[in-house]
Parts: sequence; structure tokens; C-alpha cells
Amino acid sequence: MRAVIVAMAVAIVLGASPATAAADPGASPLDLADPSVGGLDPALRTAVQNAATAAASEGVTMTITSGWRSPQFQQQLLDDAVVTYGSLAAARRYVQTPEMSKHVIGQAVDVGGTGADQWLDANGSRFGLCRIYANEIWHFELATDATGVCPPLLPDAAS
Ligand SMILES: [Zn+2]
Repeated sequence: MRAVIVAMAVAIVLGASPATAAADPGASPLDLADPSVGGLDPALRTAVQNAATAAASEGVTMTITSGWRSPQFQQQLLDDAVVTYGSLAAARRYVQTPEMSKHVIGQAVDVGGTGADQWLDANGSRFGLCRIYANEIWHFELATDATGVCPPLLPDAAS
């Protein structure tokens, strides 16, 4: 877990896209001992576990590169992004505030694993999982409506 945090922080400080950070293998959706997984809302965690199982049956390994985050860690990510992008307004396109982040309340996951984000973008609604932001293909939340349809993408986290 510490290694994941450090790797992500380093990637952001260096201005690399979070997709680069996803090169970290991430945690198994079944690894409850990892606070990033154990801190997730149970409904979201179950949905991701079911999606990961289905993805695995098609040869796609899905991990969680970032799930639950402490408010302090979210603030650190935002502070780092301000340094990287030059202003709070620019940073907010990529990183939410601790008050706004769904990660802090355990209701968002960033997925890793080769092709896992594309797989979940195409198949996630079967599990209630939706990509939320046009500029973050790895970020998913439980967001389908009563008919199982995902909402339109928001341009970015500042929307
Ligand atoms: Zn995210």
C-alpha cells in the first residue's frame, strides 16, 4: 500500500498521467487487508469483485490502483497536482478536494491491469459500474440508473 501511494505521488509530481501510475500492479479486489480495498463501500467492492471475475474469464486481469483514500491522502494528491499543473483550478480537473472526492467515502475505484479500464468501460454497466469522467478512463463509480444505463460522461473532475 505504501509503495502504491508513493508511486502515485511520484507519478503526479513528475507530471505523468495516472495511467502511468497504473503500471503499478495494484491490489486485488479481494484483498480486504489493503485499506484501499477494505475501506470501499461494500456495494461497490462487491460490484468490482464480480466485474473482475467476469473480466478474468475473458483473460483480463483487473486490479484496484486506488480505492478508498484518507482525507489526508486526497489532500496530498491535490496539493501535488497544484504543483504539477500550476493552479488549483487546473489541478481540480484531475483531482477532487477531500470534501468532494468519492474515493474518500469509499465510493470510487481506479482500476489497473492491461486493458482492464477499456473492458470495464465497455462492460461495467452490467455490474452498475460507470466511467464518470471523459479524462479518466480508469475511474469508476456505482452510477447506473434504474434501467441500468450509465449517465453521460462529465468532461473532468472539475465539472
Ligand atoms: Zn479515481
